[in-house]
Amino acid sequence: MPNFKDLFEEYSWSATKASIYEKTAGDVERALSNPERSLEDFKALISPAALPYLEQMAQLSHELTLQRFGHTMQLFAPMYLSNECQNICTYCGFSLDNKIKRKTLNDIEIAREVQAIKAMGFEHILLVTGEANQTVGVDYIAHAIKRIRPHFANVSMEVQPLDQEDYEHLIPAGLHSVLVYQETYHEADYKKHHPKGKKSNFHYRLDTPDRLGKAGIHKIGLGTLIGLEDWRVDSFFTALHLAYLEHNYWQTKYSISFPRLRPFSGGLEPKVAMSDKELVQLICAYRLFNQEVELSLSTRETNTFRNHAIKLGITSMSAGSKTNPGGYTVEPQSLEQFEISDERSSDDIKQMLNESGYEAVWKDWDLALECQ
Ligand code: SF4
Repeated sequence: MPNFKDLFEEYSWSATKASIYEKTAGDVERALSNPERSLEDFKALISPAALPYLEQMAQLSHELTLQRFGHTMQLFAPMYLSNECQNICTYCGFSLDNKIKRKTLNDIEIAREVQAIKAMGFEHILLVTGEANQTVGVDYIAHAIKRIRPHFANVSMEVQPLDQEDYEHLIPAGLHSVLVYQETYHEADYKKHHPKGKKSNFHYRLDTPDRLGKAGIHKIGLGTLIGLEDWRVDSFFTALHLAYLEHNYWQTKYSISFPRLRPFSGGLEPKVAMSDKELVQLICAYRLFNQEVELSLSTRETNTFRNHAIKLGITSMSAGSKTNPGGYTVEPQSLEQFEISDERSSDDIKQMLNESGYEAVWKDWDLALECQ
C-alpha cells in the first residue's frame, strides 16, 4: 500500500532548501513558459529568484483560476466544538499548558451555534476541536456530525488525526472533507513545537492523508503553519505531498491553506516571517503548479490582503469567523484559538465579492449532487 513516509524519507531538508535558494532567473522563466509545471518548476516559482516576476505570476495565476473556477468564491464558517486539548503545541491558545477555561459544546449549545451560523447564510461548516480523546473522541465527533449534517450541505472537520476505520465510520455520518495540516515538515522542529501529547508523533500525522485517501474521503486539506520554519521548504514538501496524493488517490479532491502564525494569549513569535508579497508569491506558485487544487484563505489575513487575494488564485474563504467554542452565540467571550484579523460579516464579504465581480458560493454543489 502506498505511504508518503517512504517518499518523504528520500528527501533531506537541507539539500531541498539549497536547491530552492539556488534557483536562477533562467529557472523561473523556464517555469513560467512551461505549459505543465514540475516540482522543480515549483521550487523556482517559490524561490527568491521569482520575486521580480511576481506581476507575471499573478496574471497567469488569475487566468488559470478563472479558466477552472470562474468568478466564484466558496464561503465557509468554522464552528469550534471544543477547546479541550491534551497536547502541548507552542503556537496555540488551546495548548494543555495554557491555563484557560475549557469548554465542549453540548447538544443544545451545538443547536444554538448551528442556528447562528445558518442565519449568516452558510451552507458549508468546518468543525474544529482540540485533541481530547476522553471527551471529544470519535464518538463525540460522530454524534456532532449527525446532528449538524441535516442543516448544512457540506461538513468539513479539522480535528485530531484518526485511524482509517474512524474515518470510514465518519464519512457515512456526513463527513465531506478533512483538513490536516502538517504544521512543519521539519521533523526536529516539529518535535520542538509538539513536546507532549499524541500530536508529538510526527509520522502518524504525516501519514494521515494516506489514511484519509484509503478511507475514500471526498476532499483533503493540506498546509503548514507558516512561521514555524522556512516557508519555502515547507511549501515544497506540501506540493510534494499533494502530487503524491493526487497520483495515489485520484478520486479525492484537494485544498491548500496558508495559515500564518497569528497572535494568541501567551503567543509564539514566528521563527521565519513571511511578507505579504511572499504570500502572494506562494499563492500564485501553487496555482501555476496545480490548476485543480482549491486554495483557501482564512480570516487570519487582513481585509486588504483578502480583498486583493481573490484575484490571485484563491477559491475558498472563511468569513464572519469565531475561533472559540460557542463563539457565535453561546459563549462569545471565551478565549479564541488565535486572533481574527478580518472581522467583516458574511454579508460584508459577499458585498466585497460582488463589487469585485465575483459570486459568493454558499453550497458545494458537487456534494449536493452526490447526495441525491
Ligand atoms: S493546535 Fe490543536 S492539538 Fe495543538 S494545542 Fe491547539 S487545539 Fe490542541
